[in-house]
Amino acid sequence: MSQLAIDLRSDTVTQPTPEMRAAMAQAVVGDDVYGEDPTVNALEALAAEKTGKQAGLFVPSGTMGNLIAVLTHCGRGDEAIVGNLAHTFLYEAGGISALGGVHSRQVPNQPDGTLDLEDIRAAIRTDDLHCPPSRLLVLENTHNRCGGAVLSVEYTRAAAALAHEHGLPVHLDGARLFNAAAALGVSAADLAAPVDSVTFCLSKGLCAPVGSVLCGTTDFIRQARRIRKQLGGGMRQAGVLAAAGLIALEKMSLRLAEDHQRAQRLAQGLRALSGVQLDPGTPHTNMVYLSLTDDVPMEASQVAQSLREGGVLVGVVGQRRFRLVTHYWIDDQAVFQTVTAFKALLG
Ligand SMILES: *Cc1c(COP(=O)(O)O)cnc(C)c1O
Repeated sequence: MSQLAIDLRSDTVTQPTPEMRAAMAQAVVGDDVYGEDPTVNALEALAAEKTGKQAGLFVPSGTMGNLIAVLTHCGRGDEAIVGNLAHTFLYEAGGISALGGVHSRQVPNQPDGTLDLEDIRAAIRTDDLHCPPSRLLVLENTHNRCGGAVLSVEYTRAAAALAHEHGLPVHLDGARLFNAAAALGVSAADLAAPVDSVTFCLSKGLCAPVGSVLCGTTDFIRQARRIRKQLGGGMRQAGVLAAAGLIALEKMSLRLAEDHQRAQRLAQGLRALSGVQLDPGTPHTNMVYLSLTDDVPMEASQVAQSLREGGVLVGVVGQRRFRLVTHYWIDDQAVFQTVTAFKALLG
């Protein structure tokens, strides 16, 4: 089950662990659209407990989880306030507008992943028939495009309080919520407490093969369950997937600090090389962002191709820019080999 290459392109590449595969083979299953899959029910209950919410909904992807959340909070013609670098805005194929008729209002993301409170305040519409009504605020933690930056409990509280003051619920795209919790030394529930709904991915650093969970109040999840069905996300004997999700939540969520330490070590090794420049502050969590210095006569794609030939896969996120993500299958040896491979190419 070992991976062929050192694959640092993303934490989505994580394969299920042998323990997960065994649990999947033995999972007790039922028809989850009838609510009869005990393993899915157990996963949804555990996810709710871990995020401090009343209920959970197992969904096929983070994209669907966020879409269901927005469609549950908003109707057609309503407006959701999102960061201009938010995953929901940039990388979810415009689903909230294509499928929900929800208008997005973009507020600039600060380099630390936050939205300035004054920008949020200014983006909330007054009651004017010319304008789409503001109906939702979406936050993201950790923030993918902002280098895996972590939003603090205090910031989340302040942003949610502002939204709530204006009658807007808050959805948290917590695809990597457990990375944020590990980085801050708080619980996922602490980070999710101020918000009304939260999605997190089982399939990234937590290593499950498929799935995310959307959590919120019992009433919210009841409505969300109908929308999941509308979108074709009602799955039948999904306990085979949820079985891996249970291990992801119970065990893998506890070891993410290791990935963050390895990201630190990787950054330390790369920082010593002359041909690359690391982003200030990187890594916040499990992502290292770096660029080629001006004197390097190659582009990132060429460097990535040479690294690939040596068995190291890195993410190319710009003409001269890389993203390297640590995860369960990246051990100390892989970190060492990656630094060595960069060094061989760039000195
Ligand atoms: C990965 C990710 C998602 C969801 O992605 P899927 O591939 O649909 O599971 C959502 N938000 C963020 C911030 C992500 O990184």
